[in-house]
Amino acid sequence: MIEVKGLSKKYNKELAVENLDLFVDKGEIAVLVGPNGAGKSTTIKAIAGLLNYEGEILLDSCDNKGVEAKSLLGYIPEMPSPFPLLTIEEHLHYIAKAYGIKDYKDYMEELLKLFNLDDKRDKLGGELSKGMQQKLSICCAILHKPKIILFDEPMIGLDPMAIKEVKRMMKELRDQGASLLVSTHLLDSMEDLWDRILIMKKGKVIFSKSRNELSEGEKLEEIFFEVMEE
Ligand code: ATP
Repeated sequence: MIEVKGLSKKYNKELAVENLDLFVDKGEIAVLVGPNGAGKSTTIKAIAGLLNYEGEILLDSCDNKGVEAKSLLGYIPEMPSPFPLLTIEEHLHYIAKAYGIKDYKDYMEELLKLFNLDDKRDKLGGELSKGMQQKLSICCAILHKPKIILFDEPMIGLDPMAIKEVKRMMKELRDQGASLLVSTHLLDSMEDLWDRILIMKKGKVIFSKSRNELSEGEKLEEIFFEVMEE
């Protein structure tokens, strides 16, 4: 589970996130939505432990900066940045080494097949298309079977088959008890998946409700516009 308490982040003197609280339970997919500049990526980067900030962030009750929390976490950034001189397969061996996992080869093959990367395994990071980089970024983030996964605009650049696989994978991870936080503007893409909606505006979460707390059949887009217009 993800617990964020009193998160504030300033870039120079500008407050990007202000005293933000957020909670994502085990076995829950939370979508994080909000206008451009609302602070979604900053929040995700803070949870991933990539920024200095004020406040407390716990991942399955562990401080997010510790090694234990890192081993629980998978992060898919907004902009994939593969190592230009490593092949697709070398990226995955490197990640396995970094996380100290040994029995990963079957799962690695499964992921490569799932994303149609198995016949491109010898391509260098610097030779990959945007969509291929995104697929590799997702494979790298979930190879160690994390319990907490942060997705920053995961569907951008993906072909329809890959989108279908990412959605199937999100469901599977949720059903295995993982906590997923997904920032996206593509509300339709998450319509059949979300369990909780978190709406951010000007650095704050202004709305957090689970699907059960809302009227049945209400669409993400409708909820978003209703809240923003209030
Ligand atoms: P988008 O939907 O456009 O991706 P977002 O909700 O993810 O936006 P953030 O990227 O978190 O928003 O940005 C929040 C605020 O922080 C914005 O005002 C932005 O200009 C500012 N900001 C983000 N990154 C930096 C940075 N590295 N340096 C200075 N200001 C930044």
